[in-house]
Amino acid sequence: MDGRTDFDRLFVWQDETVARALSWYREVATDRRPAKFRIAATVPAGVDPATADRVALEEALVRATPLFLVRWRAIREGREELGPRAEPSLVDLCAALAERMLARCDFCRWECGIDRRRRERRGACRLGEESRVACAFPHLGEELVFRGLRGSGTIFFTSCNMRCAFCQNGDISTDCDNGEPVDARQLATLAFLLRRQGCHNINFVGGEPAVHLHRITAAIALLARGFRPGGREGCRLGGVFDPVMEPPESPVGIRDGGFNAPILWNSNMFLGEPVMRLLRVLVDVWLPDFKFGPGRCAVTLARTPRYFETVTRCLARLAEWGEDVLVRHLVMPAHVDCCTKPVLEWLAHHLPRAPVNIMDQYRPDMFAEPGSPHFLERYREIARRPTARELDAAWAHARRLGLPFAEVTFERRGRLF
Ligand code: SF4
Repeated sequence: MDGRTDFDRLFVWQDETVARALSWYREVATDRRPAKFRIAATVPAGVDPATADRVALEEALVRATPLFLVRWRAIREGREELGPRAEPSLVDLCAALAERMLARCDFCRWECGIDRRRRERRGACRLGEESRVACAFPHLGEELVFRGLRGSGTIFFTSCNMRCAFCQNGDISTDCDNGEPVDARQLATLAFLLRRQGCHNINFVGGEPAVHLHRITAAIALLARGFRPGGREGCRLGGVFDPVMEPPESPVGIRDGGFNAPILWNSNMFLGEPVMRLLRVLVDVWLPDFKFGPGRCAVTLARTPRYFETVTRCLARLAEWGEDVLVRHLVMPAHVDCCTKPVLEWLAHHLPRAPVNIMDQYRPDMFAEPGSPHFLERYREIARRPTARELDAAWAHARRLGLPFAEVTFERRGRLF
């Protein structure tokens, strides 16, 4: 035995760029390394999360992050083992900070500043304090590095902070009442069950996961403290949880005596700096969806101003921090010149080693679907699939720029091993 798992033997890891770009994620997915949240749980909070106000928590996060990074690097390089859990820890700090942020919400770049615990006003996501999950299951449709052989442990939250007219998850992203409400224990239960049945990661997605930051961080804090689901949580999740897998032959998701899973942040990245700083110590691998170019397309197609400047700022942070990133870009009809090309050019300059999935599966939906009663004439331009010519132009541009895209974009045409 060489210590390699079936997951390691997936052909996509033979590509050096993919293997290097996602090396941390792969180590955590195979339980050879503890996830970041396990490491953050060994770093003292340096403040009392129960009583500290937001400013004190943010200052403590800034103070604790360098210690986290030193420890992360040492563990990554095999120079250190995971130490004992701190009480309270950096993970508790993150959960408390997200809770304080909820009172003047700036979970995303809309920075609505409303108190989501009260019901009088709603922000762009139209959410209050409640978080709902539409479904959770081992997703076999994600990229091979994420779906592997046993699926990506995907948790679909309802609602979103963007308004893409063509959204293919419109029922989830626009209907705040979709799915079931979950508290932190139930969310931790979903993550626990998905991972223990063999999923390679915990994939937080929506809609947009950031609008549920308070619930997600609270669930991660529970998992970091050794949470185990009880019957109460399990039996109330029947409506959204779809465990299609048999349990794995050998245990998955246990490392150093505790629950272990890579946290995958599957996001539109319309996020602000405070959230990025917080997620840095919890997220093992980032899956940003980078759709629109620098013109007005994000406003006309998704009613989202400041899109390009916001997403590129977040992605620049990931590059600066040396995070594991795989970028998705959806080729849209009639938007190759204004969106695809500038997006790919930005990536070639700023994230040249991140694999890019240049996706061909756009199909009109919601307000862009001519057969739908919701169809709006102003979306006529995107009411079709992209042509072969448009897709070829997108891929040819990526090739000219030297972007590593072919392995993840065309992997379904190939073999597994
Ligand atoms: S999550 Fe974003 S859209 Fe929703 S209230 Fe907070 S800042 Fe506004």
